[in-house]
Amino acid sequence: MMNRISLAGCLSVVASLFRIFALTALALVSAQAMAQDTRTTVLTGGMLISGLSVPPVHNATIVIQGERIVAAGPAAEVKIPAGAVVIDTSGQTMMPGLIDAHAHLFMIGFGDEAGWFRWLQGPGRKYSIEKVMELSAWQLLMSGVTSAIDLGGNAAESISVRNRISKGEIPGPRLQVAGPLVTRRAFAGFPAEASAVIASPKEGAEVVDRLFRQGVDVIKAHAGLTRDDYFAIVKAAHANGIKVHAHVYAETDVRNAFDAGVDVLQHMGSAGFPTYSADLVRTIAESNRPIVLTAAHRSWIFPDTVKFPGRLQDPVLKSLFPADIWAALQDSFREWPAESYFAGIDRQVRFRSPQVKQLIESNALMGVGTDSGTPMNFNTDGLVREMKVLVDEGLSPLEVIADTTRVNARIMGKPDLGTIEPGKLADIIVVPGDPVYHDLNNLFTVQTVVKNGVVYKNQGKPLVKMPE
Ligand SMILES: [Zn+2]
Ligand SMILES: [Zn+2]
Repeated sequence: MMNRISLAGCLSVVASLFRIFALTALALVSAQAMAQDTRTTVLTGGMLISGLSVPPVHNATIVIQGERIVAAGPAAEVKIPAGAVVIDTSGQTMMPGLIDAHAHLFMIGFGDEAGWFRWLQGPGRKYSIEKVMELSAWQLLMSGVTSAIDLGGNAAESISVRNRISKGEIPGPRLQVAGPLVTRRAFAGFPAEASAVIASPKEGAEVVDRLFRQGVDVIKAHAGLTRDDYFAIVKAAHANGIKVHAHVYAETDVRNAFDAGVDVLQHMGSAGFPTYSADLVRTIAESNRPIVLTAAHRSWIFPDTVKFPGRLQDPVLKSLFPADIWAALQDSFREWPAESYFAGIDRQVRFRSPQVKQLIESNALMGVGTDSGTPMNFNTDGLVREMKVLVDEGLSPLEVIADTTRVNARIMGKPDLGTIEPGKLADIIVVPGDPVYHDLNNLFTVQTVVKNGVVYKNQGKPLVKMPE
């Protein structure tokens, strides 16, 4: 028989875990994970979006055992096992956890990037790069992002945070990390460890080997590399069995990266140039190699913030930051339209729509990523903003959701993620109402977050504490 426990009941189960184990928030995650390995959790009553580009199922049930989904479908056809913890999702939508194919956890959306790293080093500051990454990881998870690819940061800290999350020591999305950008020129104002500067293709290959041995999952090749650099980097990465993501805007960079065999072309669609040549776009689409537009990060975020500066004081956003970082963040926004990050904004806004439309109309395989952490592009809302742009420019909400879940899982090389089907890892979010036919913006207020079968947020309330 059905054992329907109220949401309050679920919370009290978690509360009793707190009492039983009397541990810090850090150890609680693994305590929950262990407790839930032998437990069955059921989400039932809401609309189900599977991530498979098929129509949603109304009044659906998902059964989770340990970390995996064991059943999903119409409530009338899915039996709820005895003893299951049941979360009522009636009137809401259940869908795969979101995946961000381009995040930066060592940044938090400060008004200027160099200013952020200066602030961290100021007198009396208590946040290491690793602590910042923990904060971003928590913000992402609370916003429904259950997996992410970190495409640029400090290798040691990125690897450590990834490993601690996967061991259940700290809450966060399952991560793949690139460590430093492989580049011809270091980035002023960023930590030195975030750039791996090369002077030749040979050095490019050596850097890739070194980063692979250190433990990164992917390589991020930055624009400005030579054509031979890309070939050397891709060859070394593929020899080690890892993918290369290229940061490319201009047609020549895109072409060089593509010809060299780069696995994912990042940033196409936010270049601030006229559209790409038809030949290049057709070649990319035919190849079925994924592109990630990161369309919103400047071209929409700037004008959207001009229209509604209040988004920078959003109370939900505020609730996801420690008080001192929030105060510094507010300070950093004083002169934001003048920041050099937005120097090319007129061009970027002028060309944004034709570019994005060209790539959508090409039917190229599309993942979804944000470049999160860049100015005013928060880990908390960046991904939904990006998804909204893709819908406004012509994709259907179901297509965009599938791109953000199923296609991004493919980019990560994780076939057991990205859809809600028996056998897959249980990464599931619940959002209010109907994000498909009514309003995709419902994704901004994720109510429930399940990752690996563990409930990290329920009824809009985090069940794991913000890192301090
Ligand atoms: Zn990039
Ligand atoms: Zn980036």
